[in-house]
Parts: sequence; C-alpha cells; structure tokens
Amino acid sequence: MKSCDILILGGGLNGAALACALAAGPHSVVLVEPHPPGPAEDAWDPRIYAYSPGNVDWIKSLGGWDDQVRAEAVRQMRVWGDAGGRLTFDALDAGLSELAWIAENNRLQASLWRAIGRAGNVTTLAARAEAVTWNANGPHTLHLADGRAISARLLVAADGAHSWLRTQAGIGFKAEDYRHVGVVANFATEKPHRGIAFQWFRPDGVLAWLPLPGRRMSMVWSTPPEHAAQLQALAPEDLAARVAEAGLHTLGALACITPAAGFPLVRRRADTWVRPGLVLLGDAAHTVHPLAGQGVNLGFRDSRLLAEVLKNGGDPGEIGRLTAYAARRLEDVASMQFTTGGLKKLFARDDGLTRTARNWGMRLAGGFDPVNQALTRHAIL
Ligand SMILES: Cc1cc2nc3c(=O)[nH]c(=O)nc-3n(C[C@H](O)[C@H](O)[C@H](O)COP(=O)(O)OP(=O)(O)OC[C@H]3O[C@@H](n4cnc5c(N)ncnc54)[C@H](O)[C@@H]3O)c2cc1C
Repeated sequence: MKSCDILILGGGLNGAALACALAAGPHSVVLVEPHPPGPAEDAWDPRIYAYSPGNVDWIKSLGGWDDQVRAEAVRQMRVWGDAGGRLTFDALDAGLSELAWIAENNRLQASLWRAIGRAGNVTTLAARAEAVTWNANGPHTLHLADGRAISARLLVAADGAHSWLRTQAGIGFKAEDYRHVGVVANFATEKPHRGIAFQWFRPDGVLAWLPLPGRRMSMVWSTPPEHAAQLQALAPEDLAARVAEAGLHTLGALACITPAAGFPLVRRRADTWVRPGLVLLGDAAHTVHPLAGQGVNLGFRDSRLLAEVLKNGGDPGEIGRLTAYAARRLEDVASMQFTTGGLKKLFARDDGLTRTARNWGMRLAGGFDPVNQALTRHAIL
C-alpha cells in the first residue's frame, strides 16, 4: 500500500478503538503498530483500568469486547477522606446496572484487534515509524523502519504519552509532574468484594482497589516517588500485608498475583490537537491523574467523536472539521484535568483547616443527592 485516507499510528487501546470505529466508514484506513497483541495468557495484566459504561457500550457496538475480555462490573464505589469524610456512589441509586467495568489492558486491546481483523478493511502493519515528510498542500508521508512509505490525508497520532509523531510535528505540551507514582499490583482476596470499588485518600496518596472477576482485586496506589520505591522493593507477602493494612483489611488477607509495577504520573496537554492532515488523540493529546480512572475513557471519547465527524466521507484531513472536533473535546478533557489535579492537590495539603474542610465537603456531597448523582453522571459517559 502506497497511500490511504487515514493512517493511525499506534495500536494501543485508543488507536485500535478508532480503527474499529472507522472500519465501517468510507475511508481507507491503515493501522501501524510495532507490537501487535499476541495470544491471551492466563497471567493477569498489571495494567487494569476502569471503563465507563458509555464507552463499553460503544466498544461492544463495534464488536471489540468479546468473551476473552475478563471483566468485572463495579456496582458501588466507596471513597474515604483522611478524617472521617466519606462518599458512596451506588449504581442502583443512579438508575444504572453498573458504574463502570474493570478489565485488563492487554485482553481488551487483543479483542479490539480481533474485531479489526474481522472487519477486513483496515490494513494493519507491524512496523515502527521512523520519519515523516510533511506536505503543506496534500497528504503527509510516513516512513517506516522496514523501508516502506505511506502517504495519508490524515495522520492520527495515537502513539501514547511520549508521542513520537507529536514530537515530529514540533507540537509542544504543557506538563505538570504530579510527584506521584502509580504503583499497581493484583491480589487474591480472602473475602469477596461484591462488586465494590474502594478508594482511600490518605496522607501518603490515593489508594484504590478495583474488583476483578472472582476473589481478586487490582490496586493502584498513587503515592510520592520515595514511598512508591519502598512499596516496589517489598517482597510479595510483605506488599500484600502492607496493602491489606492500608485498606483496613476490608477484603481480609491478600496474596499478590502479579508483581508491583510503577508508573510516574504526569498531567500533559499538547499545545494543539490538530493541524491540517494531523490529529492527536488519547495519551498523545492529554494525560490525567488516574485517581478518577478516566485516562483511557477520555481517549475513547476522542475516538468516538472523531469517527462520528469523519463518517460522512470527504477529505479527512481538512482543518475546518478537525478544529471543530478539537473544540468539542476540550471541555471534557479540561474539566477532568482540573478535577483530578484539584483533588490530588486538595488531599496533599497537610494543614488542619484544609483537612477538616475537605472531609466535611465529602460528607455534604455524599448526603446531597443531586451532587452525588451529577458526579456519577460525568463518570459514566
Ligand atoms: C497507574 C495507571 C492507572 C490507570 N488507570 C486508568 C483507569 O482506571 N481508567 C482509565 O480510563 N485510564 C487509566 N489510566 C490511563 C491509561 O493507561 C491510558 O490513558 C491509556 O493506556 C492510553 O492509551 P493510548 O492508546 O493512548 O496509548 P498507549 O497505550 O501508550 O499506546 C500507544 C501505542 O503506540 C505505539 N507506538 C509508540 N511509538 C510508536 C511509533 N514510533 N510507531 C508506531 N507505533 C508506536 C506503542 O507500541 C503503543 O502500542 C491509567 C494509567 C496509569 C499510569
């Protein structure tokens, strides 16, 4: 293939979901990814995310959520402050069957790739991009490390937080180091979780337990780098004991089923998400603190809207509609970055007044139904 309408660079969750969504559309699509997903393994992926019901419905409608995805529904979420504050979100109260779904990154990615394969009209190339030739008046050309070159009317940068394509385009980004590392690990639990997700705002960061199928859960402990290094250095049984204690033994004794891994957490927003013939989406465009479980959800909403904007054909790289797309995505991303960054800062402050105010705020919000339901509604989109 020498040319196509749309070339998506990066076949992680966001790039793969976009390829699935575009498969039924009028444009020819190429997906370039150096590490396509392999066959499913029994071992649990340490990268486990919460997906909003709206996004899961969308992925299911694309055929991208098959029975190899191991998923658990979140029916209730309990959040504790660090001085008696407490919020409970319940799916039933909000008139929903679940608040979110929890599933592994690798199995969902593989499921999306199977859907792309079934669709048959997306060309997938297992290759790394090495250079790009920008053309002010027409298609840009991507040069692959294996010597091939492909011209596309629209290049989509879905190549992650350290986006190579964003750098090639000379697009800068604003970044704020949260001074947190997300330490993740999965555990077998003594007691059943009953579909409840738990989150504790603690003096040493934010600890979240997400329910997995069976008696298992996935932990994300967002915490300062020094503490993260200590957690990662613990022997598996010591880590399990420390995590069980931090979570007040809510699920009884724990046993590690995957080693701990750490991800430095940085908020980023690219200076622009669109240029003629170029769009940035997912982590290439923006990253957020994982305390609200919204990073990939924002990316899926990027892909949902972009596929919608492109579905009627025409030149996919035309700047007018790309600009309209970016303008419509800005509020969702900005409000999520503001909320997660604000909460992280609010709970990082150590003075007594702030501590009292934030815990009172949680109790008030929890007791006031419209606020509680408004918070739930944003999270389920
Ligand atoms: C601790 C932690 C917990 C999180 N929890 C949640 C959660 O609960 N819910 C949620 O919604 N989000 C969560 N997130 C965010 C989520 O992980 C990311 O938003 C999401 O994985 C980004 O997906 P992506 O497809 O944009 O990028 P990536 O997954 O990084 O994929 C990018 C792809 O591009 C490819 N690539 C890179 N360079 C090139 C190149 N030069 N040529 C070709 N291909 C290339 C890579 O191989 C990769 O496959 C969490 C993040 C962290 C760190």
